[in-house]
Amino acid sequence: RAKEQGKNKYKVFHTGMNIESYRTFLLQSDLRKAIERDELSVVYQPKVNIHTGKISSVEALVRWHHPKWGMIPPNEFIPLAEEIGLIVEIDKWVLQNACNQIAQWRNNELGSIRIAVNFSAQHFLQKNLVNEIIEQLAISNIDPNLLEIEITETALLGNEEFIISTLLKLKELKIHVSLDDFGTGYSSLNYLRVFPFSTVKIDKAFIQEITNQGEKSLAIVESIIHLANRLSINVVAEGVETLEQLKILKELQCNEYQGYHFCRPLPPEELFEFLEKYETILTESPTESAPLL
Ligand code: C2E
Ligand code: MG
Ligand code: MG
Ligand code: MG
Repeated sequence: RAKEQGKNKYKVFHTGMNIESYRTFLLQSDLRKAIERDELSVVYQPKVNIHTGKISSVEALVRWHHPKWGMIPPNEFIPLAEEIGLIVEIDKWVLQNACNQIAQWRNNELGSIRIAVNFSAQHFLQKNLVNEIIEQLAISNIDPNLLEIEITETALLGNEEFIISTLLKLKELKIHVSLDDFGTGYSSLNYLRVFPFSTVKIDKAFIQEITNQGEKSLAIVESIIHLANRLSINVVAEGVETLEQLKILKELQCNEYQGYHFCRPLPPEELFEFLEKYETILTESPTESAPLL
């Protein structure tokens, strides 16, 4: 449905346009050509276990290098892609890249590292989603348990039965599914009861406030971690930028974290080097959290 809506929704340029809608108009028409012109790329950011220092997975994040305007951040172009129904194509392109990347890393003896891919609601709610994922995994010769899918709460606003059946099929295939940006959307506790998620990711907006006199954020973070632990759902803090934040999260029994403090999102070659070095550090100093703290 969203796709149909999007495909026909060409914005037409007219002289009365304000600067903002003119920029949107230009970006959207350029975005349609970005894939074939090879302007998209993927960077990867690790998620780390707070207690063992082990890397559990790396998140794939799309980048758009516009030939004239340079880097356009995903927070700007993803919503534009959603508006014109192009996001499904972009998501699939990222999935394909990520799968090929796992295969390549495996051949380079990095071992098997799981990759998390973000799916927009439009994409996640597609009828043939599971089959397409299976097909892509087969093409890249990737074990399904090496794939993780991150969705946000907006993806849960569709038909509940359909969503549950999709999540159960993915679970049966051993594909992990995470609930991203938890706390900022509708944050219904019922979601955690009804839908079989393997992980919740606490939105970085909360994490950034826990050391910043954000008493309320601290209480919310503490509650989400406690709840996830009680429900045996893995819990990840995103946007961890300082050691101080990390220490608090460790005390609160958060399992994993992600953020600039550990590693920025990196292009594949740089991430490969980082992971190789990190592995060495980790095996040489197996103390609890030495490599992190
Ligand atoms: P997200 O999935 O919640 O990803 C986390 C964002 O936080 C990323 O922004 C990441 O670069 C950033 N980040 C990581 N560590 C830190 C930190 O310590 N501090 C701060 N301030 N930020 C940190 P990015 O790459 O700009 O992506 C923004 C959003 O765009 C993502 O949020 C996701 O919702 C969306 N996105 C990115 N790639 C894709 C994609 O391939 N498909 C879809 N559908 N959405 C994507
Ligand atoms: Mg994400
Ligand atoms: Mg997030
Ligand atoms: Mg986010």
